[in-house]
Amino acid sequence: MLIPCPFCGPRGSAEFVTIGSKSPPRPAPDAPPEAWHDYVNLRENPAGLHEELWQHVHGCRQWLVVTRDTRNHAIAAVKAARP
Ligand SMILES: [Zn+2]
Repeated sequence: MLIPCPFCGPRGSAEFVTIGSKSPPRPAPDAPPEAWHDYVNLRENPAGLHEELWQHVHGCRQWLVVTRDTRNHAIAAVKAARP
């Protein structure tokens, strides 16, 4: 799988690591335990376009938001996580 890094150009996915889904957002420190349970344990498993956080660890080391189709690994968009 080639990932078009906006800083380095197309690179093999072996140069990147991912921490998975871009969401959900982290709860507030004083959020109820149920909110923390959901944040830690529940994840969506979408079939289709999905935003994920990837880091180009063997390149520019930038964090990227990669929009990937989970059905065929086609990449629809890549942008810097921090604009
Ligand atoms: Zn890069």
